[in-house]
Amino acid sequence: MPLPVVYHPHYSAPLPSTHRFPMAKFRLLHQLLLEQGVVQADEVHRPLSIARRDLESVHPRRYHEAFSRDHLTRPEQRRIGLPATRPLVQRTWLAVGGTLLTARLALQRGLASHLAGGTHHAHPGFGSGFCIFNDCAVAARVLLGTGEVRRILIVDLDVHQGDGSAACFQHDPRVTTLSVHAASNFPLRKVDGDIDIPLADGTSDDDYLAAIADRLPDALDTIAPDLVLYNAGVDPHHDDRLGRLALSDAGLKMRDRLVLDACLRRRIPTATVIGGGYDALDPLVQRHAIVVRAAAEQARLFDLP
Ligand SMILES: [Zn+2]
Repeated sequence: MPLPVVYHPHYSAPLPSTHRFPMAKFRLLHQLLLEQGVVQADEVHRPLSIARRDLESVHPRRYHEAFSRDHLTRPEQRRIGLPATRPLVQRTWLAVGGTLLTARLALQRGLASHLAGGTHHAHPGFGSGFCIFNDCAVAARVLLGTGEVRRILIVDLDVHQGDGSAACFQHDPRVTTLSVHAASNFPLRKVDGDIDIPLADGTSDDDYLAAIADRLPDALDTIAPDLVLYNAGVDPHHDDRLGRLALSDAGLKMRDRLVLDACLRRRIPTATVIGGGYDALDPLVQRHAIVVRAAAEQARLFDLP
């Protein structure tokens, strides 16, 4: 059955050409997946901006208003690393709405993929490392608040530790955070999550996959979440500019299959977000497509509606 995906044409907000964030990747990823027939045009769902009340389940008004009106202080702005232009503010609110929509599609259909999301360095009161609002944290809080779910597991395999998500849920037992990351990498000061698996620089496919296979099935059985939010960041790849780990393309593909298979064989609805990745646009977009292709395969394999 076709995989539902979530995308908005405004995701790739214009940035100065010298900016190091690869903002065009969202548009190119959507285009590539359609061209390759991984995704069907009638299964591309367009999100609305996140409602202010929903955003405020995680981010206090003083922070989201200061960001959206470009009133953050210079140090706060620098910590984020993206300019609060009107299109960027718009795409930031849209992308959080996108992860919430993806999570709801996953609850209905078993599996869904967002062609953006995974801004896991955003804390409730400040942004950091290209992350402004924490999309997975907001989606989790909204779905818990409405009673659509009771327990959530965030599986964060972006190479950087999910410090913002850990901070959001440190005192919320309904959400478990699992982060597999390069120990020496950003953020310098980690925030303790529920399950943290730090890896040495240069870790490659076998050891990386073993670390996940060791912990994830147990975590799924123990927590029995009603929903998994999967951050499939591709920055553990050996060519990534900010990564420090050494995964191959095949390693990323095996990782995504491992995670999705572990969730779906337990009938746990799963929403994927693309997370981080830093390289030239062409190889980067190919890498982000891996998780969507894996999800499309799994949707067929498990015969999801
Ligand atoms: Zn990252």
